[in-house]
Amino acid sequence: MANRYPVQLSSDARTALQRILTPVGFNNLVGESNYDIVHEGVNILNSDLAHLFSNRKHENEQPQWANMNVLREVLSEGLKITWCKRVVRVREVQQKVEVVFEDGSTELADFVIGADGMNSTIRSQLHPSLSPPHSLPYVFVQFKLATSPSKIPTAFQQDGMNLVLGNSSNSTQIIVFSGRPLPPLDPKTALKMSEEGPFAEPDDTVKAVQKQLDDPKSGFVLARMTIPTRLAEGWEDYNEGSWIDRILTILRHDGTNEAMIKMIEDDLVPATTHASLMFSDEAGKAVPFREGRIVLVGDAMHVVPPTSANGIAAAILDAQGISETLLTSSEFGGPGGPLQALLPQNHYASKTRSEAYLKESLHLLEVSNQSGIQGSLHRGMLRSMDWFKTL
Ligand SMILES: Cc1cc2nc3c(=O)[nH]c(=O)nc-3n(C[C@H](O)[C@H](O)[C@H](O)COP(=O)(O)OP(=O)(O)OC[C@H]3O[C@@H](n4cnc5c(N)ncnc54)[C@H](O)[C@@H]3O)c2cc1C
Repeated sequence: MANRYPVQLSSDARTALQRILTPVGFNNLVGESNYDIVHEGVNILNSDLAHLFSNRKHENEQPQWANMNVLREVLSEGLKITWCKRVVRVREVQQKVEVVFEDGSTELADFVIGADGMNSTIRSQLHPSLSPPHSLPYVFVQFKLATSPSKIPTAFQQDGMNLVLGNSSNSTQIIVFSGRPLPPLDPKTALKMSEEGPFAEPDDTVKAVQKQLDDPKSGFVLARMTIPTRLAEGWEDYNEGSWIDRILTILRHDGTNEAMIKMIEDDLVPATTHASLMFSDEAGKAVPFREGRIVLVGDAMHVVPPTSANGIAAAILDAQGISETLLTSSEFGGPGGPLQALLPQNHYASKTRSEAYLKESLHLLEVSNQSGIQGSLHRGMLRSMDWFKTL
């Protein structure tokens, strides 16, 4: 039978694929990297990926946080990577894939893995009729708090993650990162600055705190809230003052833990509030298998909203799946069958896994932000699970 996928794998590419598959390379990131606190992190709740966690284990808690910078460093060590080149087009030509970059340069490849995220250029070219990911009726708001360790309410003192459900319609994560204490910030600084107007200049105290937050060894508290858009109408035009006002109003109205509200009111660091819509693919409408030399992984293949912390897990497991498929295949000198037979299996595994993650994330998002009696019942159920705080 004709070999449909004649491929050559450079030693660099082989190393990259092998590294994704060899947990020993990044086993126990805390121990290896000395990153006991985590910035640029993402939350992963998947125990199969526990070797990627880089926050310390606190008492009986499972660490749940991966440091993207550390992961990137470990995965790219010794590899030749070209950064900052935007792909504008891919097309299959005579048993190869031509990749065209924004600067006009091109590359010819035997095989292309499209990992270009939720606005994937590659996905839109491979599947032009497929609907792009749609926005969900929730806003995801993140902000940093300069709370000193002794002032963190006892309920949130773990070096890990605390998920707090409001009584009616919001869910908040309080994530405490221990580290070098931030310089002192006057209580309610962000509130006072917002009252001075959008052009209020930060004083030296504020600048000192903001500057130290750039240091990856700083300690701080990260808060993340999921808010239904109906509670934040016109949010696209909010400035920081409007956000602080909205956040505090929602939390107070929801009867949230007083100590948590005070912590946010007093310690929010100016210019650290970021809000974004949440996006998702539609359940049951996964990207179909497509024969050829281009595969999609991660958000390019399936966008999972950040609830349940499944997005990164899905992307990493996809990367592991395709790495294993390529290295196992006979075309790459492995013991398995031809790629032609292995790629559909890999696609099916990725689709099945991400579809399950998608349903779980959408369900959690819906029940944790529901209002009314149904919402109360659902939140009562969620609070009975270990990782939700009964506050
Ligand atoms: C605010 C927010 C918070 C989140 N928090 C979490 C969380 O705590 N836990 C979790 O599991 N998930 C979280 N997610 C989801 C998670 O970020 C994604 O699921 C995950 O990053 C997907 O990984 P990926 O590698 O597929 O895509 P991405 O991380 O989006 O990476 C795609 C990369 O491709 C590059 N790129 C895009 N287009 C091109 C192009 N044309 N040419 C070249 N390069 C290109 C981009 O610059 C980017 O570097 C969050 C998402 C958001 C928006």
